[in-house]
Amino acid sequence: MSEMIYLDHAATTRTLPEVLEAMEPYQDIYYGNPSTIYEFGEKSREAIERARQIIARTIHARPEEIFFTSGGTESDNWALKEAVQLHKSRNGRRRAHILTTPIEHHAILNSCKELAQSDCDVSELKVDGSGRVILKDAEQAVMEHENVCLLSVMYANNEIGTIEPIDELGRMARKRNLIFHTDAVQAYGHLPIHVQRDHIDMLSASAHKFGGPKGVGFLYIRKEINLPAFVHGGAQESNRRAGTENVPGIVGMGKAAELAHRRMRMESSRIRYLRDYLSHRILQEIPDVIMTGNRKFRLSNNASFCFRGITGEAAAILLDTQGICVSSGSACSTGSLEDSHVLVAIGLDSEWAQGAVRITLGAENTKEQMDYTVEKLKMVVADMRGTAA
Ligand code: PLP
Repeated sequence: MSEMIYLDHAATTRTLPEVLEAMEPYQDIYYGNPSTIYEFGEKSREAIERARQIIARTIHARPEEIFFTSGGTESDNWALKEAVQLHKSRNGRRRAHILTTPIEHHAILNSCKELAQSDCDVSELKVDGSGRVILKDAEQAVMEHENVCLLSVMYANNEIGTIEPIDELGRMARKRNLIFHTDAVQAYGHLPIHVQRDHIDMLSASAHKFGGPKGVGFLYIRKEINLPAFVHGGAQESNRRAGTENVPGIVGMGKAAELAHRRMRMESSRIRYLRDYLSHRILQEIPDVIMTGNRKFRLSNNASFCFRGITGEAAAILLDTQGICVSSGSACSTGSLEDSHVLVAIGLDSEWAQGAVRITLGAENTKEQMDYTVEKLKMVVADMRGTAA
């Protein structure tokens, strides 16, 4: 196949042509600073507010509850760090306690690590073998620990695609008066989200995961949660996130949000069909392979596997030479391949975890590409195992 086959949509997506078109005028025609008082600046201000309204509508929030950020990482940092500050300001500087999961993205895990150095305790909830939080254990943990100020559980996992029981966790958090944050970076634009129904107090999202540009995202903060400002300076974003707004980026994110939600139902069933076709062939035609993550509660574009006896890293490199982009599950740390923290948390031993390959589908993928990928994957795995014919 002459064209590149891109199967790493959980890493990032192509900025959609309609999005680029919507952004363009805000680079070179309406480039006014939204904070200025003249009409030229007003154009930028209006465009930002339009995007805020679109995004609010997609999650059943109010526009004033949407705060623009530089992406998922910043939104996660803001939610966690300022929830701890809020707790301390309300509780006479008493130590805070965050409950989270061992399978979060590093934006959450490393923020927790940083907070644990000084301001707060962090406990991780147990997940089952598919990566789903065990509700009974979550309830137990909430009762056991004093000073819990925040529950942060991702909406859907970036490696194995498992969707968490967000509605039940939200209900539990509201009942216990905890702030509930969810990192929805992999879910927003792919799943319908209802912050009111599911009692979500804060939600992080990132434009480049759903057809928007890189370097822009948002944090939803329920109005009643008086989360402190994160970036200090000017009065932008209602005095809570200072800095001249990324107007083209915000406009692009608004357009991408609108398109993703308009196309969600059709697109997710098309992609699910391709994903199931690909998975079925891989599981049938390649020996010693398991699919990781939950079969039922799963992002429709995620197909993640562990192949015994190979390293996912080397498989990704070999597939790249065949024009196929996929991710491996392990991270290179001081010269050796560390098992993915997600796969360790779901109980996989190194023999399996080392062979992790994540395939995530998107708008441009076709059935023909699935067939080509299976053939190349069979070849690569057999070569690495030394079982090639
Ligand atoms: N959270 C999750 C679940 C992610 O998958 C990612 C990115 O892969 C992030 C947070 C970070 O988002 P960003 O790249 O916008 O900083």
